[in-house]
This record gives sequence, structure tokens and C-alpha cells, in this order.
Amino acid sequence: MKDCIFCKIVAGKIPANIISENPDFLAFHDINPKAPVHILIIPKNHIKDFNEVSPEIMAGLTKFAQEVAKIVGVNQSGYRLITNIGHNGGQEVNHLHFHLMGGAKLKWHHLADSDPKTAL
Ligand code: 5GP
Ligand code: ZN
Repeated sequence: MKDCIFCKIVAGKIPANIISENPDFLAFHDINPKAPVHILIIPKNHIKDFNEVSPEIMAGLTKFAQEVAKIVGVNQSGYRLITNIGHNGGQEVNHLHFHLMGGAKLKWHHLADSDPKTAL
């Protein structure tokens, strides 16, 4: 898709530090890592977000993400797989991507700017 930064990475129009790829998926290092290992996993075809992806593509992405976790050596130590969706999800790039993060014990708090207790 024109003007999509991740489509440009798929097309080789802007550089990325690629870890693995197959005909359908691409894995590359996040440019602004938030963990010692921070990889982005994307379908090569432009899909806006998780709301738009088919179960069939997710099946392939699951296998690919499992392979990437092994390649970067976090499959035993553990990791986190996240996809941000839309405004409240904090999605900034509108091309479906999963963040694979690990290499250290990850924190699990302060995920929301508002106090979750007041929302109940
Ligand atoms: P989001 O907030 O949409 O879930 O995540 C977008 C991610 O893409 C961010 O973690 C950001 O650092 C990463 N990112 C944005 N532009 C580029 C780029 O040009 N190259 C790479 N490798 N990562 C990018
Ligand atoms: Zn795209």
C-alpha cells in the first residue's frame, strides 16, 4: 500500500534489519527497541490490523513467529507477543504487526494511562 512504511520495508524501498522471511511473512528488528530483543513480525500483504486478518493468515503467522522466537533464542527463556490495535491499543503503524519482545524479564504493569480500578 502506498505510503505504508512497512509495505516499503517489504518492497526493499527502505532498509530494515531482517531476521527471517518466507513468501508470506517478514521479521525485522524494531527501530526503537523497548526490550533487549524487540522484533516486528508482519504479513507481507498489507493488512490494516488484527480486526482485518483471517484465521488462515494467523495460522501461518503463528508458525512463523514460533520459528523467529527460536532464531533469536528466546523460545525457552520466554517472550511476549503483542499486537496493538487502533487508537486505544496504541497502534502507530497501520500495517498489522506483532511485537516479539524478550531477552530480559518484562514488566507487566502501568499499561494504561488511566487507573484501571476507576473503569470497573
Ligand atoms: P505500534 O505502535 O504501531 O504497535 O508499533 C510500531 C513500531 O514500529 C514501533 O515500535 C516503532 O519503533 C516501529 N517502527 C516505526 N517505523 C519503523 C521503521 O521504519 N523501521 C523499523 N524497523 N521499525 C519501525
Ligand atoms: Zn502496509
